[in-house]
Amino acid sequence: MRAMVLDKPKQPLQLRDVEKPRPAKGQLLVRIATCAVCRTDLHLADGELPDPKLPLIPGHQIVGYVEDVGSDISSSVAIGDRVGIPWLARTCGRCRYCTSGRENLCDAALFTGYTVNGGYAQYAIADARYCFQLPEGFASDELAPWLCAGLIGYRALRAAGDAIRLGIYGFGAAAHIVTQVARHERRDVFAFTRPGDVAGQADARALGAAWAGGSDEPAPDELDAALLFAPVGALVPAALRSVAKGGAVVCAGIHMSDIPSFPYATLWGERRVVSVANLTRRDGREFIALAQRVPIRTRVASYPLERANDALAALRGGTLAGTAVLNVA
Ligand SMILES: [Zn+2]
Ligand SMILES: [Zn+2]
Repeated sequence: MRAMVLDKPKQPLQLRDVEKPRPAKGQLLVRIATCAVCRTDLHLADGELPDPKLPLIPGHQIVGYVEDVGSDISSSVAIGDRVGIPWLARTCGRCRYCTSGRENLCDAALFTGYTVNGGYAQYAIADARYCFQLPEGFASDELAPWLCAGLIGYRALRAAGDAIRLGIYGFGAAAHIVTQVARHERRDVFAFTRPGDVAGQADARALGAAWAGGSDEPAPDELDAALLFAPVGALVPAALRSVAKGGAVVCAGIHMSDIPSFPYATLWGERRVVSVANLTRRDGREFIALAQRVPIRTRVASYPLERANDALAALRGGTLAGTAVLNVA
């Protein structure tokens, strides 16, 4: 099968013919239709995440069709079904995190497109228990960004509690989706983009943001919570200064530049800084059900599989008007 392979960080992915995987016990073989590109893929390619499997097929927002199943499949999935494969590939099921509803924190977890091969390829295998059934009425490339941008955005939004005035820093794929969920829940969205990104700000307003401006601008009103999707540590104290007493600043990225020191008074008043890590299967089920009701619409920029490096470059350059997806023909 054709795959885009990361041999070593800081090198372009290589188009290669690799052996088609076979499903083992409990696994599905999925013929990939689309895999969306995530900022985490960029962090991996740039060597910013520790100990990836190498060589690696990246990609963890996979939509495809079940072509074969291994033995002992306990879920109701059948050959021909369309399924989603997310970042969380497997957990141990026994540790204190797994047994307390926090499988996202499992120390023995495996991650798609990081510690096991992912979706920049024609086929992938996945543990059936961690795949999601996907709704009808949405195209595969439209669904792919739900699987990380959507899920992580959803988990970050839940971490913000019942905040009404919601700041969102970094207006990429996750922010596009979470803004739609937040408006559906009648929250007010204040969107902070890169300074001068007038197009991004117009985009945010079109999605229903009450206000949009640069991340160097103060919020026009006190925020109840802020979600940080931009990997910029300096935004943590900036967001804290915009958040009302008792409010949370939720860091949703897997990697961020160092957070500069700031006076304790900025945190005082029961403000909180929290991070969101990975996802649970429960997040996935809840989000997919909610996303159908909203309904979430995503805008994608399509690339053929072979142009994965161009898609990553466009994400790095901030020039994408939508989520980059790799369409696998
Ligand atoms: Zn565990
Ligand atoms: Zn991701």
